[in-house]
Amino acid sequence: MAKFPEAEAVLMSVKVCHKCKSRNPKTATKCRKCGYRYLRGKKKGKGGKGAAGGAAK
Ligand SMILES: [Zn+2]
Repeated sequence: MAKFPEAEAVLMSVKVCHKCKSRNPKTATKCRKCGYRYLRGKKKGKGGKGAAGGAAK
């Protein structure tokens, strides 16, 4: 499915800050930008389509 396996790997290997949406290294324990401690792994949604970008609502 992934057009760019390398890009996919990068996306999978980052954590995104809940607060400011900054990307952090997957080894990060807190956001490098705002210091927020809750980071989520960036991963594919279960539903596939609409999972990315539609999470705002
Ligand atoms: Zn942050």
